[in-house]
Amino acid sequence: MKLTADLHTHTKYSDAHCTVDAQAKRAKELGLEAFAITDHGYTQLVCGLRRREKARYTREIAEAEKKYGIRILVGIEENILGREGTGGLSPSDYDEFDLYLAGFHVMSAHESWHDWWNGWRGYLGYNMRLDLRHGRLAAEQTRAYINTVEKNPVDMLTHICFQCFADPLEVAKCCADYGTYVEISGKKTHFTDDELDAIVHKTAARFLVNSDAHSPKRMGDIALAVEQIERVGVPLSRIDNIDGRMPVLRMEEYKKRR
Ligand SMILES: [Zn+2]
Ligand SMILES: [Zn+2]
Repeated sequence: MKLTADLHTHTKYSDAHCTVDAQAKRAKELGLEAFAITDHGYTQLVCGLRRREKARYTREIAEAEKKYGIRILVGIEENILGREGTGGLSPSDYDEFDLYLAGFHVMSAHESWHDWWNGWRGYLGYNMRLDLRHGRLAAEQTRAYINTVEKNPVDMLTHICFQCFADPLEVAKCCADYGTYVEISGKKTHFTDDELDAIVHKTAARFLVNSDAHSPKRMGDIALAVEQIERVGVPLSRIDNIDGRMPVLRMEEYKKRR
């Protein structure tokens, strides 16, 4: 299994220290056909990409693409903001990006105080290893994932169930219905093997496998994901950014139809 494109990486435009140039240089050395810079989004309160920096972000990506001769997608990792499914990007932002990712992160501009509190409860509960998978919190965070996918042309959900509680099967079913990819992260294990097995066998969800690299050293590093993929026996034909394949991106299709 060979990675075609690492579609989840960060730079100093959000919470990493490295430059776009350094990430591009490493991706080229690794022989990737393409990769995406997907810094944390506008609704990240502390370390997200700022709107005033967007032009420079895009320009640096275009310059690195030319310098290293590697395709670089202009991406963003936005946030799941609450139960109503408000997107981090507005429709007027879509033309500015090639790739729209979304995931749960604390310190986001949540829809309401209740959603903000849910975010922290999920974060704290997860890190204290509490099992909150079957209560009201999980039902509400599941609803937040599902409404976000239904109402926004999100290309991929990042690290589902990491530092939050949700029903991964329901979320993955919704992803399959709407053409949103489910990530298998190379940075952190976010599904149990049983959860991933259920997603594979009970849904038609398709996957992307990425590094979530916050440094050039980790660019293209999907070893952790590969171990789980092999343990669970995920058919490689369900993963759309390996072995020469590139994904069909939902936001791009949405923009064509508009
Ligand atoms: Zn993330
Ligand atoms: Zn990330």
